[in-house]
Amino acid sequence: MRNGMPAHGDRLMTSATIALHELARATDACRECPLGAHATQSVFGEGPVHARLMVVGEQPGDKEDLEGRPFVGPAGRLFDRAVAELGWSRDKLYVTNAVKHFKYELRGKRRIHKTPAQREAEACHHWLESEIALVKPEALVALGGVAARSLLGRHVAVMSERGRWHEDAEGRRVLVTLHPSALLRGDPAQKEAAWKAWLHDLSLASEVLDKTPSPARKKPRATHAPRRTAATA
Ligand code: SF4
Repeated sequence: MRNGMPAHGDRLMTSATIALHELARATDACRECPLGAHATQSVFGEGPVHARLMVVGEQPGDKEDLEGRPFVGPAGRLFDRAVAELGWSRDKLYVTNAVKHFKYELRGKRRIHKTPAQREAEACHHWLESEIALVKPEALVALGGVAARSLLGRHVAVMSERGRWHEDAEGRRVLVTLHPSALLRGDPAQKEAAWKAWLHDLSLASEVLDKTPSPARKKPRATHAPRRTAATA
Protein backbone atom coordinates (compact mmCIF):
# COMPACT_ATOMS: atom_id res chain seq x y z
CA MET A 1 0.00 0.00 0.00
CA ARG A 2 1.49 3.38 -1.08
CA ASN A 3 -0.09 6.82 -0.53
CA GLY A 4 -3.26 5.09 0.54
CA MET A 5 -3.41 3.26 -2.79
CA PRO A 6 -2.85 -0.48 -3.14
CA ALA A 7 0.36 -1.37 -5.00
CA HIS A 8 -0.03 -2.89 -8.46
CA GLY A 9 0.56 -6.43 -7.12
CA ASP A 10 -2.09 -5.92 -4.43
CA ARG A 11 -4.59 -4.65 -6.99
CA LEU A 12 -4.00 -7.72 -9.14
CA MET A 13 -4.46 -9.92 -6.08
CA THR A 14 -7.73 -8.20 -5.21
CA SER A 15 -9.14 -8.44 -8.70
CA ALA A 16 -8.16 -12.13 -8.89
CA THR A 17 -9.83 -12.74 -5.51
CA ILE A 18 -13.03 -11.07 -6.67
CA ALA A 19 -12.95 -12.98 -9.95
CA LEU A 20 -12.51 -16.28 -8.10
CA HIS A 21 -15.49 -15.51 -5.87
CA GLU A 22 -17.56 -14.73 -8.96
CA LEU A 23 -16.45 -17.98 -10.58
CA ALA A 24 -17.41 -19.88 -7.44
CA ARG A 25 -20.90 -18.38 -7.57
CA ALA A 26 -21.18 -19.12 -11.27
CA THR A 27 -20.31 -22.79 -10.77
CA ASP A 28 -22.99 -23.01 -8.11
CA ALA A 29 -25.59 -21.86 -10.61
CA CYS A 30 -24.12 -23.97 -13.44
CA ARG A 31 -26.30 -26.68 -15.00
CA GLU A 32 -24.10 -27.44 -17.99
CA CYS A 33 -24.16 -31.11 -17.03
CA PRO A 34 -26.70 -33.05 -14.95
CA LEU A 35 -24.58 -33.06 -11.77
CA GLY A 36 -25.48 -29.53 -10.74
CA ALA A 37 -29.14 -30.40 -10.28
CA HIS A 38 -28.51 -33.16 -7.73
CA ALA A 39 -25.70 -31.82 -5.56
CA THR A 40 -26.20 -29.58 -2.54
CA GLN A 41 -23.92 -26.88 -3.92
CA SER A 42 -20.81 -26.54 -6.03
CA VAL A 43 -17.47 -26.90 -4.32
CA PHE A 44 -14.94 -24.46 -5.65
CA GLY A 45 -11.20 -24.28 -4.99
CA GLU A 46 -9.66 -22.79 -1.90
CA GLY A 47 -6.26 -21.38 -1.02
CA PRO A 48 -3.91 -18.47 -1.63
CA VAL A 49 -4.93 -16.58 -4.73
CA HIS A 50 -1.50 -16.83 -6.32
CA ALA A 51 -0.33 -20.11 -4.84
CA ARG A 52 2.73 -21.60 -6.50
CA LEU A 53 1.20 -25.07 -6.44
CA MET A 54 -2.36 -26.04 -7.34
CA VAL A 55 -3.57 -29.50 -6.34
CA VAL A 56 -6.46 -30.85 -8.40
CA GLY A 57 -8.63 -33.71 -7.21
CA GLU A 58 -11.51 -35.45 -8.94
CA GLN A 59 -14.74 -34.07 -7.50
CA PRO A 60 -16.23 -33.18 -4.12
CA GLY A 61 -17.29 -36.08 -1.91
CA ASP A 62 -20.26 -36.34 0.43
CA LYS A 63 -18.74 -34.18 3.18
CA GLU A 64 -17.37 -31.60 0.77
CA ASP A 65 -20.78 -31.35 -0.89
CA LEU A 66 -22.44 -30.66 2.45
CA GLU A 67 -19.79 -28.24 3.71
CA GLY A 68 -19.09 -26.52 0.39
CA ARG A 69 -15.33 -26.86 0.86
CA PRO A 70 -12.79 -29.04 -0.97
CA PHE A 71 -10.62 -31.76 0.61
CA VAL A 72 -12.42 -31.96 3.96
CA GLY A 73 -13.62 -35.59 3.77
CA PRO A 74 -11.67 -38.81 4.49
CA ALA A 75 -9.51 -38.46 1.34
CA GLY A 76 -8.85 -34.82 2.19
CA ARG A 77 -7.73 -35.82 5.68
CA LEU A 78 -5.31 -38.32 4.18
CA PHE A 79 -4.00 -35.58 1.93
CA ASP A 80 -3.55 -33.35 5.00
CA ARG A 81 -1.50 -36.12 6.61
CA ALA A 82 0.74 -36.26 3.55
CA VAL A 83 1.08 -32.46 3.58
CA ALA A 84 2.25 -32.63 7.21
CA GLU A 85 4.71 -35.47 6.53
CA LEU A 86 6.18 -33.63 3.57
CA GLY A 87 6.66 -30.50 5.67
CA TRP A 88 4.32 -28.55 3.39
CA SER A 89 1.73 -26.11 4.63
CA ARG A 90 -1.84 -26.46 3.43
CA ASP A 91 -2.02 -22.65 3.67
CA LYS A 92 0.38 -22.43 0.74
CA LEU A 93 -1.59 -24.74 -1.53
CA TYR A 94 -4.55 -23.97 -3.72
CA VAL A 95 -6.74 -27.08 -3.73
CA THR A 96 -9.58 -27.70 -6.11
CA ASN A 97 -11.34 -30.39 -8.14
CA ALA A 98 -11.70 -31.10 -11.85
CA VAL A 99 -15.49 -31.42 -11.41
CA LYS A 100 -17.29 -28.93 -9.19
CA HIS A 101 -20.45 -30.83 -8.23
CA PHE A 102 -20.72 -34.12 -6.32
CA LYS A 103 -21.76 -37.16 -8.38
CA TYR A 104 -23.33 -39.97 -6.39
CA GLU A 105 -25.93 -42.71 -6.41
CA LEU A 106 -28.34 -43.30 -3.57
CA ARG A 107 -28.17 -46.61 -1.73
CA GLY A 108 -30.84 -46.39 0.88
CA LYS A 109 -30.04 -43.14 2.62
CA ARG A 110 -26.36 -43.24 1.74
CA ARG A 111 -24.92 -41.21 -1.11
CA ILE A 112 -22.23 -43.31 -2.74
CA HIS A 113 -19.54 -41.61 -4.83
CA LYS A 114 -19.68 -42.21 -8.57
CA THR A 115 -16.84 -41.34 -10.89
CA PRO A 116 -17.80 -38.47 -13.18
CA ALA A 117 -18.31 -39.40 -16.82
CA GLN A 118 -15.87 -37.99 -19.33
CA ARG A 119 -18.57 -35.71 -20.78
CA GLU A 120 -19.21 -34.31 -17.29
CA ALA A 121 -15.51 -33.64 -16.70
CA GLU A 122 -15.30 -32.06 -20.14
CA ALA A 123 -18.32 -29.85 -19.43
CA CYS A 124 -16.65 -28.70 -16.22
CA HIS A 125 -13.22 -28.18 -17.73
CA HIS A 126 -13.66 -24.50 -18.57
CA TRP A 127 -14.30 -23.71 -14.90
CA LEU A 128 -11.02 -25.34 -13.95
CA GLU A 129 -9.21 -23.52 -16.75
CA SER A 130 -10.62 -20.19 -15.55
CA GLU A 131 -9.49 -21.01 -12.02
CA ILE A 132 -5.97 -21.85 -13.23
CA ALA A 133 -5.84 -18.68 -15.31
CA LEU A 134 -6.58 -16.58 -12.21
CA VAL A 135 -4.33 -18.40 -9.73
CA LYS A 136 -1.49 -18.81 -12.24
CA PRO A 137 0.26 -21.60 -10.33
CA GLU A 138 3.81 -22.47 -11.31
CA ALA A 139 2.89 -26.15 -11.31
CA LEU A 140 -0.07 -28.44 -10.72
CA VAL A 141 -0.55 -31.82 -9.08
CA ALA A 142 -3.19 -34.10 -10.60
CA LEU A 143 -4.65 -36.52 -8.07
CA GLY A 144 -6.10 -39.44 -10.01
CA GLY A 145 -7.16 -40.15 -13.56
CA VAL A 146 -10.04 -37.67 -13.87
CA ALA A 147 -7.86 -34.74 -12.78
CA ALA A 148 -4.94 -35.91 -14.91
CA ARG A 149 -7.13 -36.25 -18.00
CA SER A 150 -8.71 -32.89 -17.38
CA LEU A 151 -5.33 -31.17 -17.04
CA LEU A 152 -3.43 -33.00 -19.77
CA GLY A 153 -6.31 -33.35 -22.23
CA ARG A 154 -5.72 -37.03 -22.86
CA HIS A 155 -6.23 -40.37 -21.22
CA VAL A 156 -3.60 -40.84 -18.52
CA ALA A 157 -2.58 -44.29 -17.29
CA VAL A 158 -2.02 -43.14 -13.73
CA MET A 159 -0.16 -46.23 -12.53
CA SER A 160 2.46 -46.02 -15.28
CA GLU A 161 2.62 -42.21 -15.57
CA ARG A 162 2.61 -41.35 -11.87
CA GLY A 163 5.55 -39.79 -10.08
CA ARG A 164 6.70 -37.71 -13.05
CA TRP A 165 6.21 -34.23 -14.36
CA HIS A 166 4.20 -33.91 -17.56
CA GLU A 167 3.45 -30.84 -19.63
CA ASP A 168 -0.01 -29.65 -20.61
CA ALA A 169 -0.98 -27.92 -23.85
CA GLU A 170 -0.10 -24.55 -22.31
CA GLY A 171 3.36 -25.72 -21.24
CA ARG A 172 2.39 -25.94 -17.54
CA ARG A 173 4.03 -28.64 -15.45
CA VAL A 174 1.66 -31.28 -14.11
CA LEU A 175 2.70 -33.95 -11.62
CA VAL A 176 0.53 -37.05 -11.83
CA THR A 177 -0.18 -39.31 -8.89
CA LEU A 178 -2.99 -41.30 -7.30
CA HIS A 179 -6.06 -39.80 -5.72
CA PRO A 180 -5.96 -40.33 -1.94
CA SER A 181 -9.21 -42.29 -2.13
CA ALA A 182 -7.28 -44.99 -4.04
CA LEU A 183 -5.08 -45.44 -0.97
CA LEU A 184 -8.15 -45.63 1.28
CA ARG A 185 -9.62 -48.37 -0.93
CA GLY A 186 -6.34 -50.20 -1.55
CA ASP A 187 -5.12 -53.59 -0.32
CA PRO A 188 -4.52 -53.30 3.45
CA ALA A 189 -1.42 -55.52 3.11
CA GLN A 190 0.09 -52.98 0.72
CA LYS A 191 -0.99 -49.96 2.72
CA GLU A 192 2.43 -48.92 4.02
CA ALA A 193 4.17 -49.39 0.66
CA ALA A 194 1.38 -47.52 -1.15
CA TRP A 195 1.60 -44.67 1.34
CA LYS A 196 5.38 -44.35 0.90
CA ALA A 197 5.12 -44.46 -2.90
CA TRP A 198 2.43 -41.76 -2.81
CA LEU A 199 4.55 -39.54 -0.56
CA HIS A 200 7.47 -40.06 -2.91
CA ASP A 201 5.36 -38.94 -5.88
CA LEU A 202 4.10 -35.86 -4.06
CA SER A 203 7.57 -34.97 -2.76
CA LEU A 204 8.61 -34.08 -6.32
CA ALA A 205 6.47 -30.98 -5.96
CA SER A 206 8.42 -29.79 -2.91
CA GLU A 207 10.82 -27.97 -5.23
CA VAL A 208 7.97 -25.71 -6.32
CA LEU A 209 7.10 -24.76 -2.75
CA ASP A 210 10.70 -24.48 -1.52
CA LYS A 211 11.86 -21.94 -4.08
CA THR A 212 12.96 -18.53 -2.86
CA PRO A 213 10.17 -16.09 -3.66
CA SER A 214 10.73 -14.18 -6.89
CA PRO A 215 10.51 -10.35 -6.56
CA ALA A 216 6.95 -10.40 -7.93
CA ARG A 217 5.91 -12.84 -5.21
CA LYS A 218 7.71 -11.40 -2.19
CA LYS A 219 4.64 -9.78 -0.69
CA PRO A 220 2.82 -11.86 1.90
CA ARG A 221 0.03 -13.76 0.22
CA ALA A 222 -2.57 -13.34 2.89
CA THR A 223 -5.48 -13.17 0.48
CA HIS A 224 -7.32 -16.44 0.26
CA ALA A 225 -10.08 -17.38 -2.05
CA PRO A 226 -12.79 -18.41 -2.08
CA ARG A 227 -14.05 -19.91 1.18
CA ARG A 228 -17.74 -19.58 0.79
CA THR A 229 -19.95 -18.82 3.72
CA ALA A 230 -23.63 -19.59 3.93
CA ALA A 231 -24.26 -16.06 2.68
CA THR A 232 -22.32 -16.60 -0.52
CA ALA A 233 -23.24 -20.22 -1.17
S1 SF4 B 1 -20.27 -30.40 -12.52
FE1 SF4 B 1 -19.36 -28.61 -13.56
S2 SF4 B 1 -20.32 -28.53 -15.60
FE2 SF4 B 1 -21.55 -29.90 -14.29
S3 SF4 B 1 -23.13 -28.55 -13.47
FE3 SF4 B 1 -21.47 -28.60 -11.98
S4 SF4 B 1 -20.17 -26.84 -12.47
FE4 SF4 B 1 -21.49 -27.21 -14.25
